[in-house]
Amino acid sequence: MSAKKQANSDDVVDMELHCVMCGTRLYVSVPQADAVIASLERTGAAIMICVCGQAQIIRCKLQRRND
Ligand SMILES: [Zn+2]
Repeated sequence: MSAKKQANSDDVVDMELHCVMCGTRLYVSVPQADAVIASLERTGAAIMICVCGQAQIIRCKLQRRND
């Protein structure tokens, strides 16, 4: 039993999305989530890769009034 808890890289963020191919709920590590969010803010979209290899395009869901 050498399962020591490492507080650094095990944290994940629930993206509240499911893979279109396999239906797996998408989670990303915190550093990756930062990159995804930065991309969303900059371009309005970001790409995540599911464990099955399917690329997912995420579009910005921030509440913005565009009226
Ligand atoms: Zn998948």
